[in-house]
Amino acid sequence: MSNKKPIVALIGRPNVGKSSLFNRLAKKKKAIVDPTPGVTRDRHYENVTWDEREFLLVDTGGLESDHEDSMTGLIQNQTLLAIEEADIIVFLLDGKEGLSTEDYRVTEMLRRSDKPVYYVVNKVDGPELEEKLLPQFYEIGADSLWPVSAAHGYGLNTFLAHLVQKFEIFEDDGSGDDDVIRVAVLGRPNVGKSSLVNRLLGQDRMVVSSVPGTTRDAVDSLCEHKSGKYLLIDTAGIRRKGKVREKLEKFSVLGALGTLERCDVVLILIDAKEGITEKDTKVIGYCQERGRACLVLLNKWDLVKDDKRWKKYLADEVERSTRFIGFAPTMNISALTGMGVKKIFSEVKSTYKQYCLEFTTNRLNKILQEAVADHSPSLHRGKRIKLYYTTQVATKPPTFIIFANYPKGVHFSYFRFLVNRYREGLGLDKSPLRIFLRERERKKYG
Ligand code: GDP
Ligand code: GDP
Repeated sequence: MSNKKPIVALIGRPNVGKSSLFNRLAKKKKAIVDPTPGVTRDRHYENVTWDEREFLLVDTGGLESDHEDSMTGLIQNQTLLAIEEADIIVFLLDGKEGLSTEDYRVTEMLRRSDKPVYYVVNKVDGPELEEKLLPQFYEIGADSLWPVSAAHGYGLNTFLAHLVQKFEIFEDDGSGDDDVIRVAVLGRPNVGKSSLVNRLLGQDRMVVSSVPGTTRDAVDSLCEHKSGKYLLIDTAGIRRKGKVREKLEKFSVLGALGTLERCDVVLILIDAKEGITEKDTKVIGYCQERGRACLVLLNKWDLVKDDKRWKKYLADEVERSTRFIGFAPTMNISALTGMGVKKIFSEVKSTYKQYCLEFTTNRLNKILQEAVADHSPSLHRGKRIKLYYTTQVATKPPTFIIFANYPKGVHFSYFRFLVNRYREGLGLDKSPLRIFLRERERKKYG
């Protein structure tokens, strides 16, 4: 089963309704309770399920806002990023305002890319407005126009039905090699990503071949190491460095999200000399949220290895900022001297093994029973909380559902206790795991 979700990027001028559309689609009722602490994050991307198909919707309007470009530069940058990193682009136009020169410019850029694009005309608040608002947009030369109203919902069912049909081309055809572990290197600019990739590829006894990557100009590298086969995913700015425009050298959220969809294991690179920055915390947060297996690599160790005080400070910093991915192995390395690099692949391998594990229901329930026997959950509004049984619903990462009578009544600290019992009981000391609570259907009598 493929665990890659297509990334759908919303682009368009300010005020066309991107965030309105995003919010409408992202809104969903949660049937299961996920008490995992999340990173506080900008909610500009969200998993959306439509017609049982899942995708990651990204509002580019809220992303990459840390540059001070003109409005024109801004939308062009978003468009470039979307072309590079998204699987499908939704170009939102303003039905009330009509076409602008920027819309034409963006259309030009989109036409030069080979990504599927939907031209969606927003603010068509009802069928009676279609005739009035739509014709002016034919001039843009799109094959089809999709009239919608983000505010009222008009046209969205039709549009989404077509959108999710497009996903077929992203669905796994089963031709992927299951033995290959897909590894990505993530980190802010200058932490040493390309140095590390080159160092990894240059190791002894390694056979390397190039495979075209998923994004334009990217080249993934298939490596046969003595410990196994690895596909090093070429994230933007690593192997094609120098070719890319200066602006895109910046850390890109959309890029990181795309990478996380494509890989199994993430090497999170931190600059040991600089310490943890806000960008690092974000990278860590994205990995945690996506539930990817990861390794924390403190690079440039050669520069800090003799500085005891700094090392102590750094260790505390790292511990604090990786609290939610405390399971991730941490290694000190130097991409420059090669220190520690040789051990990376074997550590990736053992982490990945845990990431793919499946467990019997018997074993899962035994852990639950023992946990409850040792420490029962506190009352919920005077009623006893019952935890009935556990079942594994997915791997990568191992994901479990515990059925309970009052899932929402399970206190966070108790939930954490359960997670730890599962982690210990199943020997998952390097991989993330996920546990959800779900209400068990009440038995019907008679
Ligand atoms: P963004 O800047 O592209 O994210 O646009 P917003 O979602 O913030 O919307 C800009 C403005 O357009 C807001 O005042 C919205 O209320 C309005 N708007 C968004 N969608 C619709 C729509 O479908 N119909 C109408 N009439 N107004 C809309
Ligand atoms: P990227 O932007 O993350 O791909 O970073 P680069 O691989 O281009 O490295 C940025 C700079 O850090 C370059 O000048 C590298 O030579 C330097 N660098 C990378 N790894 C190390 C390391 O382990 N030790 C030291 N001292 N410098 C390093």
